[in-house]
Amino acid sequence: MADIYFWYRVDHILANKWRPNTFDEVLGQDTTVQALKNALDRSLLHYCYIFTGIRGVGKTTLARLFAKSLNCEQGLQAHACGQCSSCVGIKEGNDLDCYEIDAASRTKVEETLKILDLATYPPTRSRYKIFLIDEVHMLSNHSFNALLKTLEQPPSHVKFLLATTDISRIPDTVRSRCIEFTLNPGKKDDVQSHIRRVCEAEDYQIDDQALETIVDQANGSVRDAITLLQTLMTASNDRTITNDLVERVMGIVSEHVYEELVKHLESNHREKILSFLEHLSNQQTNYMRLIDQCIVKMSRLAKISQSNGSNFQNWIQIALLTKRDAALYPSMKIAFEMMIMRMLEFVPKINNLNQGPITDQKKNYHKDKSTQSI
Ligand SMILES: [Zn+2]
Repeated sequence: MADIYFWYRVDHILANKWRPNTFDEVLGQDTTVQALKNALDRSLLHYCYIFTGIRGVGKTTLARLFAKSLNCEQGLQAHACGQCSSCVGIKEGNDLDCYEIDAASRTKVEETLKILDLATYPPTRSRYKIFLIDEVHMLSNHSFNALLKTLEQPPSHVKFLLATTDISRIPDTVRSRCIEFTLNPGKKDDVQSHIRRVCEAEDYQIDDQALETIVDQANGSVRDAITLLQTLMTASNDRTITNDLVERVMGIVSEHVYEELVKHLESNHREKILSFLEHLSNQQTNYMRLIDQCIVKMSRLAKISQSNGSNFQNWIQIALLTKRDAALYPSMKIAFEMMIMRMLEFVPKINNLNQGPITDQKKNYHKDKSTQSI
């Protein structure tokens, strides 16, 4: 019966291979890890836990580690043995008393009721019957109501471990019955060190700039960083990962290209902007990623800019609106190009930035620009 809910995993997926096997291997979630360890070592257990945070930050991993500790045959302890049939079964996703459910594909109330019915029976061989429900925010309202009924009077042998990327979609009535852990996005230094360790262990060379670009793109998600690394390993012919390879594989553009873009925008140089767009269209450019990169780079520039802060704010707003409306454009290339042209319209028309003091330059601003709305 249980096997219909199993998630099969394969070893050649690097993110699975490098998934932490103990609490001590979990990256950057010290507070949550300590709280879980304390709960286990002091036997202060609740019946429902919810893990929230961005994707790839370790929610399911922590839930599985917690499940192993709950049902380890060596006893209830923070340091699960990792060897007993329960520990191995949970790790491999085929334990009889630990049900992993992907709520995104099982939203209907009938399916939730079927799962909850299993909760009424005691565990087959373990201490607890554990239900690990991933992406729990995807359940329908009826499903949440059914879950709530079980949470109101939970059988003593049942533990619910819920994971979600969107805690705001969990009804308050359910949340109030859960111990909630918010997982932090991975710190840049931690993720970089981890990726470097993976490269060394897998016998790949990686340069510092490539490492930085990967971590920037992963945006705090350790799994995203490792998945990207695996893509790059596959693309590399000589077990070397350079920044050039990262940019080519991901369709992103170099730092200096942004500087060039900003320079052309600031100087309102339409011809150079058009040739810049032409240049991009001849590359394998990932335009959606490029818009994200623009937002990140411009927000950095906005913080350090002495005089053009409001320009960057406007441009970031234009980029955000382009992202929002992306699906309406015939292609992402057109969306990106129109975004740049719109940014150009929002640059104060200064004949020559290098001439005259800033007070004189301001007199040349097109007054009508200040009244435009985005
Ligand atoms: Zn064990």
